[in-house]
Amino acid sequence: MGLGEKLRSAMESLRKATAFDKETIKEAVKEIQRALISADVEVQLVLDLTKKIESSAFKELPKGLTRREHVLKITYDLLVELIGGTMQKAPEKPKRILLVGLYGQGKTTSVSKLAKYYSKRGLKTGIICADSYRPAAFEQLKQLAEKINISFYGNPKEKNASKIVEQGLKELKGFDLLIVDSAGRDAFNEELVSEIKAIEKVFKAEEKWLVLGADMGQLAKKQATAFHNAVGVNGVIITRMDGSAKGGGALSACNIAKSPVYFIGTGEKPDDIEEFDAQRFLSRVMGYGDLQGLLEKAKELSEEHELSPEEIMQGEFNLETFYQQLKATKKMGSIGKIAEMLGMKMQLPKEMLETTEEKLEGFKVMMDSMTKQEKKNPDLLNHKRIERVAKGSGKTENQVRELLKQFKQMQKVFKKFKGLDEEKLEKMQKNGKMDIGKVLQGFGPKKKQKFKIR
Ligand code: GDP
Ligand code: MG
Repeated sequence: MGLGEKLRSAMESLRKATAFDKETIKEAVKEIQRALISADVEVQLVLDLTKKIESSAFKELPKGLTRREHVLKITYDLLVELIGGTMQKAPEKPKRILLVGLYGQGKTTSVSKLAKYYSKRGLKTGIICADSYRPAAFEQLKQLAEKINISFYGNPKEKNASKIVEQGLKELKGFDLLIVDSAGRDAFNEELVSEIKAIEKVFKAEEKWLVLGADMGQLAKKQATAFHNAVGVNGVIITRMDGSAKGGGALSACNIAKSPVYFIGTGEKPDDIEEFDAQRFLSRVMGYGDLQGLLEKAKELSEEHELSPEEIMQGEFNLETFYQQLKATKKMGSIGKIAEMLGMKMQLPKEMLETTEEKLEGFKVMMDSMTKQEKKNPDLLNHKRIERVAKGSGKTENQVRELLKQFKQMQKVFKKFKGLDEEKLEKMQKNGKMDIGKVLQGFGPKKKQKFKIR
């Protein structure tokens, strides 16, 4: 089971919890600890993280968030921070990249992946094989280069890596980007360092990236530090993120070593590379497809303002309006009262007029779990989003669907009502198509003044 699945099941217990007390949090925190430790994250980091979750879980709730959402959000934020939420992005237009690293970490594969990645983004890219140590290296890179249709230079007869690079620079003159593949060793040693330094003397790369397999786990920190100190490595590529559960450990280790992870390798093929983005990575591996929605919502809450009755009457009638109205009505009697405020009591289906206070409370809780966009346009609430809202509010998906159904009924009534503005009514009357008196009667006794709002 990978890190993502473990975290997902740990978070699942938070999402499903009915009682939301210290015990529940403690249990969930234990599961998160287990997940992270088995992903080879340093124990101290894990303890720090979970201590933070426990201490902020019962702090004052940010405006509009449920306790459950609050805990999910801080946990998620802390996880993002752990694996490198503040890391910078890979450069968009690098000129020279040198890849270094130990044997079998994925350097040669990554050279071809990067070449494809950057040439797709418009850079005329060439690659140079400076691995003269392993006889098969030349052939491996040459074949990869042909496969992705990228210019390649190498010389299997030359043993001096820096001479190959010197020649390569002449052969591939005028290219936007050159990428050099270097030889590895079994372990970090002086021979490797002096070889890299010699290549650097002629190549003068502004980007020196270390390639590390995800299976390195927290050992990545030692590697990154050693390579950084010896040859000034300034970026990292973590490969085999598809195959190792230790990816979380490798990522957090690089974060601690202040080595930005620019790319991750997610397979053996030239396209199996992606820019590393901690947030995107986590929400994907955790399978929380609509985590973005929750985050958006948390951001919006500070900007939200209460709508005035005029705004409600003038604007679209949407879940947001409905919600704002519920919010404004501190003592929520029944939906009938709200309908009355909106001036459409007479038109509402009976079942809606009888909506209990308890049910209304439930509506409010569910709407608290929606983003502003979703409340504005409830059609956005597809299956995935409904699932998220249900989880966030501790309701069932059916309950969310019921709210949407009731809302839709109410929206229909509202549309009818809004459609009959004064201008339209006048026109209809003029054409003899409508008896305005009758229409108004249909809307109940107070309707006449209500039209003035528009
Ligand atoms: P080098 O010795 O550092 O040049 O490593 P190579 O590029 O030759 O890769 C070593 C092995 O790891 C090869 O079998 C690659 O196919 C494999 N490999 C490299 N990157 C990835 C990756 O992101 N995912 C997977 N699954 N395999 C990879
Ligand atoms: Mg290689």
